[in-house]
Amino acid sequence: MTTPACQACASTELETFYEVRDVPAHSCLMLPTREEALAFPRGDIELAFCHACGFIGNVRFDASLNRYSAAYEETQAFSPRFISFLNEICDDQIRKFGLNSDTTVLEIGCGKGEFLVTLCERGGCLGIGLDPSYRPERTHSSVADRITFIRDFYGPRYAHLRADYVCCRHTLEHIAPVRDFVRLVRDTIGERHHVNVFFELPDMERILEQGVFWDIYYEHCTYFTRGSLARVFRDAGFDVLALYKAYDGQYLMLEAQPAAGRTAPHLPQERDLALIASLVKSFKSQVTARLQELGAAAARWRKSGHTVAIWGSGSKCVSLISSLQLGDELRAVVDINPHKHGKFLAGSGHRIVGPDALTALRPDVVLIMNSIYTEEIRHELAARGLRPQLLPL
Ligand SMILES: [Zn+2]
Repeated sequence: MTTPACQACASTELETFYEVRDVPAHSCLMLPTREEALAFPRGDIELAFCHACGFIGNVRFDASLNRYSAAYEETQAFSPRFISFLNEICDDQIRKFGLNSDTTVLEIGCGKGEFLVTLCERGGCLGIGLDPSYRPERTHSSVADRITFIRDFYGPRYAHLRADYVCCRHTLEHIAPVRDFVRLVRDTIGERHHVNVFFELPDMERILEQGVFWDIYYEHCTYFTRGSLARVFRDAGFDVLALYKAYDGQYLMLEAQPAAGRTAPHLPQERDLALIASLVKSFKSQVTARLQELGAAAARWRKSGHTVAIWGSGSKCVSLISSLQLGDELRAVVDINPHKHGKFLAGSGHRIVGPDALTALRPDVVLIMNSIYTEEIRHELAARGLRPQLLPL
């Protein structure tokens, strides 16, 4: 076997620091039957840290297990908290980069198109969105005729698409050859130096720091911190203008513009290599502590016959269920996205229900997969006369 090389910088100074075997290859794909959910293809996770650039990737990732299609349900746009966040970032980007009716915006990996539509509605711009999981029947907007959606992956065949602004949200972490991808984006822009780019993705520094192992799953084959993200962009011929965290520190944002060649780091937050190396070292013990804590709670619920529900059926949930090996005590997996109701979670085979299902179930404990939604969920439960113990993760 050849030594794997870093997908971001090609160095072979890789060190494996975290492994999980036999996990579902997808966690946002909605399956119509329990049988299909249980039989879903599985793969292994072996996270390796690159000592040269700080990049972290799953060296056992097999892209042939990917099944991105219209059955992919990644949207969070049914949450008021998320919608207000979407509006905030759109307004911020419009203001910073002067997006207006003369601007063509290209979004790579636009999902169901919520961000692009919001940007075009609030900024008056023209849009092009690419994503194999796009569903035209879900777009209801007065600006729909200003946007072209292409149901496909971005690649060299779309190098002719001309845009004045390129954005890519929650997509880079699904792409294994990150260096090639960022270079392709740079090559597509070519000499058009006014084109700004905006990337948004999960922040790995927080995952390492807090030992939140449920944020690591097969679909995410690459993991960045501010430093490693800036390095791959600088290497590809971008100047990084801004690097910051958003959404309670869960997301990492990068703004960049094309440069003539490789650029030198100049933002203080890029210098994180030593810090990340030390967080990588302590990650496993952090995870063990988290697992013990949650495992003890699960044992208590089992003993006292508590009814448990999980709120949030995304990838984090799939990852948590398989790590904790939750069984019969887990009575419901709730999601507010109606497109998920009645479908089954890959791997565990749990059926996803809407919040109304909890009225009859009356759970004693509700595990909240993303603590940012705690107040929203408390409100939804109270509206149904429910006051269970909440456990925000
Ligand atoms: Zn590297």
